[in-house]
Amino acid sequence: MSTTKLTTHHGMVDLLPEDTEKWNYIESVIKDVARRYHFQEIRTPIMEPTELIARGVGQLTDIVSKEMFAFNRGDDQYVLRPEGTAPVARAFIQHHMAQRGGVQRLFYIGPFFRAERPQKGRQRQFHQFGAELIGAKGAIADAEIIAFMMEVYRRFGIENIKLKVNSVGNPSSRAAYKKALYEYFVPLQDQLSDISRNRLESNPMRILDSKEEQDQPLKEKAPRITDYLEKESRDHYEEVQQHLKQLGIPFETDPFLVRGLDYYTETAFELISPDLGSQDALGGGGRYDLLIEEIGGAPAPAVGFACGMERLLIVLEALNIELPSAEPPDVYFVTRGAPAAKWALETMPGLRSKGLVCTMDYSGRSIKAQMKDANRQQARYAIIAGEQELEEQIFTFRDMSESTEKKAAMADIISEICQK
Ligand code: AMP
Repeated sequence: MSTTKLTTHHGMVDLLPEDTEKWNYIESVIKDVARRYHFQEIRTPIMEPTELIARGVGQLTDIVSKEMFAFNRGDDQYVLRPEGTAPVARAFIQHHMAQRGGVQRLFYIGPFFRAERPQKGRQRQFHQFGAELIGAKGAIADAEIIAFMMEVYRRFGIENIKLKVNSVGNPSSRAAYKKALYEYFVPLQDQLSDISRNRLESNPMRILDSKEEQDQPLKEKAPRITDYLEKESRDHYEEVQQHLKQLGIPFETDPFLVRGLDYYTETAFELISPDLGSQDALGGGGRYDLLIEEIGGAPAPAVGFACGMERLLIVLEALNIELPSAEPPDVYFVTRGAPAAKWALETMPGLRSKGLVCTMDYSGRSIKAQMKDANRQQARYAIIAGEQELEEQIFTFRDMSESTEKKAAMADIISEICQK
């Protein structure tokens, strides 16, 4: 037999009970925000056809060119989904959701996969929550999506965050801008980092994404997309900013904000936290008016965001924001002998139907060991039963936090617990 220890893959993490309690709480807050914004949940498969991601996200992006977990089975090509927007757009087309009329407001929470180099805030399996508003063209939709995203962080009391917005324009203004960027960087290419030099030919806008030290001074004097926007894009961008101001959402404009996914048009935004370290993006999003057509649907304008759950947790922890921990049992049944254990097993469902959290020892350990376990689990009460108690139908009822106990019938015990 092999002696290799079987553990998770690098960058893939188990969520243990102490974690899932927090995750469930966080998800419940996100779902409550979604409910108030009248967005409904969509769940798409974990695996998608590779072609959807390649076409939707873009061949030249890091995600598609180097971070996909993809494999073939028979004639089909599968990819573990690296992001949520292309799958939602696919579902929108596949299920003819445009025919439902009006605007589709969808949100999701779930795992995503990218073969990145793991570090703090960057995993190979990570989780995102996100929302997509499909079928709305106006700047109001952009503002509403950003407001939804910001509201999640506000609900957790996270205030020290920075919203950056930009416009990446429509394809023709972007083409003019790319040309200007290319012409600006070509004479400087010897001074660029290797990564950026490689991007020069394929997608010069991605140079603006660079975090490499040596690229920073070169970026500063680079042309700005805002100088290349056509009137319609300029107006849209201006209107988004007006709405954000009206909503009291602070933001900064950042002419160099380009996002790593190809499908964005017009508005792009990112949410940054100083409590995150080098991976400082909590989330981001933007408008993607061309994606649905690109993957085979009738044109539909859309805007959305996606945020990292792990990074939200890192910030909550850094700010010492308390999250609920596991609920302790209301009642721990301490039993002596097999008949008492059987009685406890049969008594617990009645208490549970009243909403009480009950547990017991399942292994016939000593009373002392069971009491210790009840303490460890922070049970509010213990009900202690042996042969004699069963015969008399009078049990020892112990208040664990006050360390007091008395003898009582089950009906009295239940009414006392339920009153408190
Ligand atoms: P993106 O889909 O790349 O725009 O990512 C949106 C958000 O998801 C980021 O701002 C992060 O918070 C989170 N995220 C993306 N990739 C990872 C990853 N590999 N590990 C953890 N979080 C991630």
